[in-house]
Amino acid sequence: MLRRTKILATLGPATDKPGVLEGMFAAGLDFVRMNFSHGSAQDHINRANSVRELSLKTGRLVGILADLQGPKIRIARFKDTKVYLNEGQNFALDINLDPMAGDNTQVGITYEPLALEVKPGSRLLLDDGRIVLDVVNVENMRVNCTVVVGGDLSNNKGINLLGGGLSAAALTDKDKEDIKTIAIMKCDYVAISFPRTAEDLHEARRLLVAAGCHAGIVAKVERAEALDVIDEIILASDAVMVARGDLGVEIGDANLPAVQKMLIKRTRELNRVAITATQMMESMIDNPIPTRAEVFDVANAVYDGTDVIMLSAETASGKYPIKAIGAMHRVCIEAEKQSKVRLSRHRIELQFDRVDEAIAMSAMYMANHSKINGIAALTESGSTTLWMSRISSGIPIFALSPHQETLGKVTLYRGVFPVLFIHDLSDHAEVNRAIIAELKRRGVAVDGDTFIITQGDLKGIPGGTNALKVITVGQDLTH
Ligand code: PGA
Ligand code: MN
Repeated sequence: MLRRTKILATLGPATDKPGVLEGMFAAGLDFVRMNFSHGSAQDHINRANSVRELSLKTGRLVGILADLQGPKIRIARFKDTKVYLNEGQNFALDINLDPMAGDNTQVGITYEPLALEVKPGSRLLLDDGRIVLDVVNVENMRVNCTVVVGGDLSNNKGINLLGGGLSAAALTDKDKEDIKTIAIMKCDYVAISFPRTAEDLHEARRLLVAAGCHAGIVAKVERAEALDVIDEIILASDAVMVARGDLGVEIGDANLPAVQKMLIKRTRELNRVAITATQMMESMIDNPIPTRAEVFDVANAVYDGTDVIMLSAETASGKYPIKAIGAMHRVCIEAEKQSKVRLSRHRIELQFDRVDEAIAMSAMYMANHSKINGIAALTESGSTTLWMSRISSGIPIFALSPHQETLGKVTLYRGVFPVLFIHDLSDHAEVNRAIIAELKRRGVAVDGDTFIITQGDLKGIPGGTNALKVITVGQDLTH
């Protein structure tokens, strides 16, 4: 059975080991994430090359997402790598302190305006909320705090302000440099970290296009204030990531489940792609099987309608990167058998302005309400398959396109499978024959199956889909 939900795994030192990437491909990898918070540009280029080579060798198209670091606020370093903070003690964050000279009373920071943006009583969360500091006062750019929750604190850990409100722009100088590397790597998507407004995403798109990169844009929702303008942010992006790590720190972990459901639902309604990220299989960093809670988390994300589930440290630096993908795969397969994720009333009352959208919706209505084994959509830009995949269904959608760029994009859509399809036929019956032959060759269509084919009269014109045909595999197509 084809898995509809896509698995996105972060690459890192653990996946550089011999044979690991091959194992991840075989376990069902769909997309990789290059995390620009770690590693050099050359590391990312090398990894992208390995992914492209394996895609060609195995015939399994795996897409590439580059994730920019963004304005993550971090503490600097400690003289002895880490310190222990006791509850109730004083601890200061100081922009003027030597960045290598932290100790258990103070540490440097990398974000200049911090002292101006906090006030007495502000709560700072370090290391994804493991350490909690309350601000007592600010003197000469030095933020004096009391430790509310203590513990180990090591070099370069992140800082969040409870409730959000830090003003840093989404794109840093480092991000702008990295965009140049990303343009060379030919990524399929670029993730923007900590956007506050739609304008942050428009700016990212302008910079990418100027660098010659036409990757899709992923908005990582990880700031409290992004939720206030969420429709604009979704519409400015091609995909939305529920970035539960940073977001959970800013809004409080207990608020995450409701926000995840809202974000996925709204993203799908607005014709965008949803990614659910962070700690999905966290215990598999050290263990070969997930906890029951993690199994439920993955299945619940599938029920919520996510297109993609993401692995971070589980694959980048964990002990069991291949097994983590395998575990996600089997949980998705079972979750996707539930009827609630296969049926849809979405858009049933809507009017469609465009013919291609109406064809896409008609195909899904038919697929979900009669005996159809699969849909083959000839697509230039992938938009027909994006509309189709916004409708819950159990029927696979094959996106047939001659364009690598389109195939990379559609690989992220739930229930959509990329098929490279190049032809110079002008007769429709011949095109249909070639489509069916390709699907049979891949083992996804057999004689007797019923397939829907959607296509346009004019080849090479995006938005031109105007035909829907139902055919039985194995019967000669004469028209
Ligand atoms: P990160 O983003 O892994 O880059 O921090 C995801 C998150 O914050 O959940
Ligand atoms: Mn984050």
